[in-house]
Amino acid sequence: IPRKRFGQNFLTDELVLSNITRVINPRPGQTMVEIGPGLAAMTRQLLDGLTQLHVVELDRDLVARLKKNFSPEKLVIHEGDALQFDFASIPVPEGQKLRVVGNLPYNISSPLLFHLAEIAPLVEDQHFMLQKEVVERMVAEPGSKTYGRLSVMLQVRYHMELMFIVPPEAFDPPPRVESAIVRMIPKPGALPCDIKKLEEVVTKAFSQRRKVVRNCVAGLLSEADLIACGVDPQLRPETIALEAYVAMANLLSSRQV
Ligand code: SAM
Repeated sequence: IPRKRFGQNFLTDELVLSNITRVINPRPGQTMVEIGPGLAAMTRQLLDGLTQLHVVELDRDLVARLKKNFSPEKLVIHEGDALQFDFASIPVPEGQKLRVVGNLPYNISSPLLFHLAEIAPLVEDQHFMLQKEVVERMVAEPGSKTYGRLSVMLQVRYHMELMFIVPPEAFDPPPRVESAIVRMIPKPGALPCDIKKLEEVVTKAFSQRRKVVRNCVAGLLSEADLIACGVDPQLRPETIALEAYVAMANLLSSRQV
């Protein structure tokens, strides 16, 4: 019986399952971790391509099932909360990076994305099933209605792409919303700014979406500061590009010394 509190909607549609596996394209020798394997519908398909797979699952009963159905050489089971899990503890051979996948529990998707963002430099790529509306916010461009804090904070670290949409009927029980598969590839090199400062600017900027940016960030950055960052103070926060937010964060950091 699926547990609501664990966000359990199990994928049952074979075509959707094989489409996801095709997009992920697991290969022997790669190091991959699946978050929330559940009844192992995806797990099984992924293991067809892999030598070994790590999984992180919170539900004790599901963990017991997994232990019964898979050999420990094939499936390395980490029982616990993915939000607390140290993904950097998974051993990865020299020259390789970690691949992360999962049909995520939607109730914890944002905190989980931010938890994983901390290890982005160790990650090759991430493929997730999420609420379609969340994926739209992640990949949104300036000027679109869904562009906001999540877009900026994730786009600074990842190239992201909505791969395809998945209807509620593909799951048991069907969720109330549409879902989508997103691909996330960490951008190479160091972050272009102090992430705490960026968070501060972006949170303020998007706290009052109907106001112009000058009013939103008042107290943090002046009109002259905005102009120095190449930002028109009369613009609305949802029309300002990622690079301009990075410039604002860098201006804030430069002041702190
Ligand atoms: N991957 C399976 C599938 O596609 O059918 C199950 C997906 S279901 C949406 C989410 C899974 O994540 C469930 O198995 C649930 O028990 C597990 N889960 C929920 N919260 C979790 C957490 N905090 N850490 C790890 N796993 C969690």
